[in-house]
Amino acid sequence: IGRLKAKLKNARESLSKKIDTVVARGRPVDQELLEELEEALIMADVGVNATSLIMARITEVIKKQRPQDSSKVQDILKDELVNLLTIPAHPLDPSSAKPFVIMVTGVNGVGKTTTIAKLANYWKNQNFSPLLVAADTFRAAAIDQLVLWGERIRVPVIKQQPGADPSAVVYDALEAAISRKHDLVIVDTAGRMHTRVNLMEELKKINRVISKKLPGAPHETLLVIDATTGQNALSQARLFKEAVGISGLVVTKLDGTAKGGTVIALCHELGVPIRFIGVGEGLDDIEPFDPVAFVEALLG
Ligand code: GDP
Repeated sequence: IGRLKAKLKNARESLSKKIDTVVARGRPVDQELLEELEEALIMADVGVNATSLIMARITEVIKKQRPQDSSKVQDILKDELVNLLTIPAHPLDPSSAKPFVIMVTGVNGVGKTTTIAKLANYWKNQNFSPLLVAADTFRAAAIDQLVLWGERIRVPVIKQQPGADPSAVVYDALEAAISRKHDLVIVDTAGRMHTRVNLMEELKKINRVISKKLPGAPHETLLVIDATTGQNALSQARLFKEAVGISGLVVTKLDGTAKGGTVIALCHELGVPIRFIGVGEGLDDIEPFDPVAFVEALLG
C-alpha cells in the first residue's frame, strides 16, 4: 500500500486533503458536513450519480449509528467506496482455460499497447507462456510497437502485413497458440475512433472468429481506459460495453492524475470490475485492482 500511495499521490491529494478538512475531528456530524463531503466527491471526479448513491448510503448509516465524532464519517465513506468498487464477477484467472484468450480493446492513446506488454510480462513472471497478437493492422506503427515490446519481454508476437484482415491474424494466432502450446493469448485490437462503426464491426468479427475457433473464448474482453480523460472515459466505456461487451477494465495513468475519482464513477456506471490499474510507463507499473487497498491508498 505504501507504493500505491506514492503512485496515487495526486489523486490522493485531491481527494484525501479535502475530505480530511471536511471530517476534521470535533465537528458536529450535521447537514453542513454532509454537503461539504458531497462537494468534495464531485470535485474529485467521482461523478454525480455515484456521489448521490454514496451520500444516500452514508446518510442512512449516520442515521442508524449516530456517530458523535466526525472522523467516524471517514470510515463510513471508506466502507461505501469499497462496496461500490467491489463488483461481483468471476475472477480473471488465465489458468481456467488453455489457451486462455484475452481480447484487449480501447481507443488509441489510452495506453493499450503498454498495458498488453505489462500484462504479458506479469503473467510470464507467473510462469504462463503468453502469445501476443498484433490485430491492430490499421496502423503499421501499432504492429511495430507490439513487436518491440515482445522483443523486450521475450514474448512471441503473431503479426501480418499492415492492412491485413485482423480476424485472419487472430485465426492464425489461435492455431499457432494451440500447436505451440501457449497457455495465454493476448490480442491487441485497433482503437481508431474516427471510424467508430467500422471499428465496432471489426471487433465483433474478431470476437466471432475467436469463439468459432475456440468455444467459450474470448475468456476475457478488457477495455483499457485512460483515467486522465475523466468524463470522456465514461462515454468511451459505455460505447465499447454496448458494442462488444466488456468483462473487465484496466484503468491507466492513475499516477500523476488528480482524477482518481474517475475509477469510482466508472465502476458505478458500468458495473464492470476493474481488473488492473496502470500506475506508470514502466513494465512493472501495473497492479491487480484491490478495492480495499485502492481506497486505503486514496484516503487512508
Ligand atoms: P495505445 O495507443 O493505447 O496503444 O497507447 P500506448 O501504449 O502507446 O501508450 C501511450 C502513452 O501512454 C505512452 O507514452 C505510454 O508510456 C503512456 N502510458 C501507458 N500507460 C501508462 C500509465 O499507466 N501511466 C503513465 N504515466 N503513462 C502511461
